[in-house]
Amino acid sequence: MLTKIFTSDVFGINAYQVAVEVDSQTGIPGFHLVGMASTAVAEGKTRLRSALANCNFKLHSKRITVNLAPAEIKKDTTAFDLPIALGVIAVNDHLPPEKIGKGIIVGELSLNGGIRPVRGVLAIAELATKAGFEYILVPQENAPEAALAGEIEVRIAENLNQVVNSFQGLIPWKKMVSQQEFRAGEIELDLKDIKGQKRAREALEIAAAGGHNLLLVGPPGSGKSMLAKRLPGILPPMNKIESLETTKIYSISGLLNDTSLISTRPFRSPHHTVTNAGLVGGGPGPRPGEISLAHNGVLFLDELLEFSRNTLETLRQPMENQQITITRAKGSLTFPSSFQVVAAMNPCPCGYHNDKSRECICSKFQIRKYRNKLSGPLRDRFDLQLEVPALSYTEIMNEEEGESSATVRNRVLAARKFQIRRYREEKFFCNSNMDSGSIRKYCRLQQESQQLFSRHLERHKYSVRSADKILKMSRTIADLDLSPEIEKKHLKKALNFRCLDDSI
Ligand SMILES: [Zn+2]
Repeated sequence: MLTKIFTSDVFGINAYQVAVEVDSQTGIPGFHLVGMASTAVAEGKTRLRSALANCNFKLHSKRITVNLAPAEIKKDTTAFDLPIALGVIAVNDHLPPEKIGKGIIVGELSLNGGIRPVRGVLAIAELATKAGFEYILVPQENAPEAALAGEIEVRIAENLNQVVNSFQGLIPWKKMVSQQEFRAGEIELDLKDIKGQKRAREALEIAAAGGHNLLLVGPPGSGKSMLAKRLPGILPPMNKIESLETTKIYSISGLLNDTSLISTRPFRSPHHTVTNAGLVGGGPGPRPGEISLAHNGVLFLDELLEFSRNTLETLRQPMENQQITITRAKGSLTFPSSFQVVAAMNPCPCGYHNDKSRECICSKFQIRKYRNKLSGPLRDRFDLQLEVPALSYTEIMNEEEGESSATVRNRVLAARKFQIRRYREEKFFCNSNMDSGSIRKYCRLQQESQQLFSRHLERHKYSVRSADKILKMSRTIADLDLSPEIEKKHLKKALNFRCLDDSI
């Protein structure tokens, strides 16, 4: 007797379908598992025996073979426990086989027949919907997550007896109804809490409006990380597609502890000792790294120069391509990683270069050597670079409360709309994504501004790349003014945000 049940696991960010075929034949009693199963699946055999015994399912003494198809994909999950158990129960005549083949079934068994949650359920529910299955049967803890997919019936599995009884029609299924309409989350940290720091606030607004990466250079205690944490709140609110993408990544990483979609832009702040796999993804599975957990949000690199050079270099490709490809013996997989970077560093080894309160003890040579730890190509990824001074107590006390994030966000949204309209014929939609051809096309300067720009470039010996960054920023500053032309005042402001280009 043969029965077939469908289940699923995730590879990268996407789920794939697996068929569990269970066959029972007369012969020497035994239980065989074939089809490239990992230890996690093989250990399921032991859990299965205990669960079946504890739930009083008697097995006939038969030879049972379980095949997982397709065979070439490595299956590394405990999610197949429940479908395998149901297959075994069906071939032992406790369940009509035709009842269990119309949905996708996932769940880990505990020894007493209870059912534990598995990872990646949102992606699995999406797959079940696309593949036209009637329902998805998931552990209770995963049910709210499965319901986020929206369009498929979500049945809840609490324990093995309840599942079998429901399949037999003895008790009704417990179901999870899908969530209401999507709403973007509230702003969590408000800019109005930051006193003073007018230029830094302005830089943050420009970064948000044009999607530019931002580098903050300042002494310890100048509030660099407080500023960085407020970037997600002034970016445009998340839409449902972005929210589903980001939630799926957290679901696969087993980091989804809430029962709703992630509706605010993520802010990730990995420590400088993070491994390459931790940052860009890898390890067993492989799992998404910090850059994918920051997808559609902000990656904050505090103490930038403390990160190993090698780690920082691994960031270059995903920053460029907005996705990361991890190559494995079994093939390569891609995680999305569209994120904006804010980085912070001290201005010099002692931390107090250009500080009013304390004297810097570093030589010019030491400062230059320190700053050169940031390679040219990586430095080029930061459009905006500015010094953030530490404010004295009196300065902070005299400052008025700043504008709220909501007010700033309205200007950012208007500037983004202005860009979307201009770039409707292009493949990109915000200024930071312009290549050099597009910069020539969209960032033309009037004659007077052009002269000022040329003089400035000569005096400071700026590279062509730096010049391009300044033009892109000028474009964003003009967009915040809703000005079709880049005017002299816009250019002048942009020239103020390249502090690392100036020679020491
Ligand atoms: Zn110093």
